[in-house]
Amino acid sequence: MAIMERNSRNIDNRYWNPGFKAFPVKNVYTAGAAGQRFFEEIKNNSKILGSRCEKCELTYVPARIYCERCFNRLEEKNWIDVGTEGTIYSYTLLFQTQNGEPRENPAVMVAVRIADGLLIHRLGEFSAADLEIDKPVKAKFKPKEKRKGCIEDIDYFKPIK
Ligand SMILES: [Zn+2]
Repeated sequence: MAIMERNSRNIDNRYWNPGFKAFPVKNVYTAGAAGQRFFEEIKNNSKILGSRCEKCELTYVPARIYCERCFNRLEEKNWIDVGTEGTIYSYTLLFQTQNGEPRENPAVMVAVRIADGLLIHRLGEFSAADLEIDKPVKAKFKPKEKRKGCIEDIDYFKPIK
């Protein structure tokens, strides 16, 4: 597309589609020391881990290995199971698919507050009345055999009735 051309699909500016079925990635991606352990716990034990800085009285979710406020190293003993429940901190409705096509029903993305952190994820099994700030929600995990060690191992968060 030339610089003065306009496109009518907003998705066209966001990714490159070379026509391959798979993008030829030659590097190995790592989630880092904290990310790897965080995702392994989700995958293997259905647990969401946070890391606690006692000095700052903060529990980070997802867990990390340093406190971003005081730069304290958060050792393994500072990692805690924060449970699988949180509250809706914010949400947004998606009226288009990733390809820019209209959705029949809008999807809902939520920022879920767990301890002092946020996880961005889908909301599922909800009605319009559930869309409110501070609504309690719970993680719904995929079956163990379908998990891959990523945030998608949580299928979605759903309101606690
Ligand atoms: Zn700290």
